[in-house]
Amino acid sequence: MATARILCAFAQARVGLECAMARTLQRPSQPVESLSGPSAEFPDDLEAAIRDLLRERNAVLLAHYYQESEVQDLADFVGDSLALAQAAQSVDHDVIAFCGVHFMAETAKILNPERTVVVPDLAAGCSLADGCPPEEFRKFKQEHPDAAVLSYINTTAEIKAMSDLICTSSNAPKMAAEFEGQPLIFAPDRHLARWVAQRADRPDMIVWQGSCIVHEQFSAKRLVQLKVVHPDAEVLAHPECDEAVLEEADFVASTTGIIKRAVESEAQTLIIATEDGVFHQIQQQAPGKTILQAPGMDESCACNQCPFMRLNTLEKLFLCLRDLTPQVEIEEDLRLAALRPVERMLELSA
Ligand code: SF4
Repeated sequence: MATARILCAFAQARVGLECAMARTLQRPSQPVESLSGPSAEFPDDLEAAIRDLLRERNAVLLAHYYQESEVQDLADFVGDSLALAQAAQSVDHDVIAFCGVHFMAETAKILNPERTVVVPDLAAGCSLADGCPPEEFRKFKQEHPDAAVLSYINTTAEIKAMSDLICTSSNAPKMAAEFEGQPLIFAPDRHLARWVAQRADRPDMIVWQGSCIVHEQFSAKRLVQLKVVHPDAEVLAHPECDEAVLEEADFVASTTGIIKRAVESEAQTLIIATEDGVFHQIQQQAPGKTILQAPGMDESCACNQCPFMRLNTLEKLFLCLRDLTPQVEIEEDLRLAALRPVERMLELSA
């Protein structure tokens, strides 16, 4: 793992410098007092204390690939949205500690309501979920009364409850194929929608115009410049990226798909256009490969990290396991309405 090289791509390309910002493990920027009052104290060995609490609480720790490597290393299960939903459905622990963003933990609660679901930080949102408010989406849906609704898992329970089927980036074209011959609304990511429309031959999809603030900021122009410097590199991109970025990619897939391809590819240098939390898994599974961040539009930094995902820290994880708060709760009628399209996706993905 230590031999894997993760470079801040554009800085490296221009001036040969390793990016000082890449992969630094960050302790919380807030003072400890702001996390749990002035008396909050943390054990010296925080990782060991978290493991002890997981055992004492009979808790399972689920973490998304976009979490810091220190969180991923503690987790019982690390995956993308689909794999995490599948894992959440089957666990029988008393507590699910979910290190991801809110819609993911909420999906775990929808699927497994008997468990206590805790998150390190309730403010860990998502620009896609937050950019699709239920009341506005209800009106959008009413404008297309004959259309079925296929929603990305990056949505609130309210949007899921208004949907016929849920998808993730791992299975979206397959889920779209379920609606052959029917008018179809796709929400909320317009870039994923465009990629799905091409793959599933559904150019007629009615698309909610949301986007991910992380994936949308990769720069196609600067990516081309980077490819010139590294002609042997393979470019892997997530379908939430802009069309111009995807056109420069050799391979487009979900986070799980990107990791798998990065490990299996014969290319020794990889340029990756997704959140850089995935680098940790690639490092572990393919030590020795050089991983370059796809450059962002902001030339002052090529580091693409989800600010919501990174709200989760070891300190907050320790506190949420110690105090069993904050918990994710969902009203039962809403849960049941949201469960139906999520379960349908899981059945179709089995
Ligand atoms: S990376 Fe984008 S889609 Fe994923 S949680 Fe962050 S804002 Fe949402």
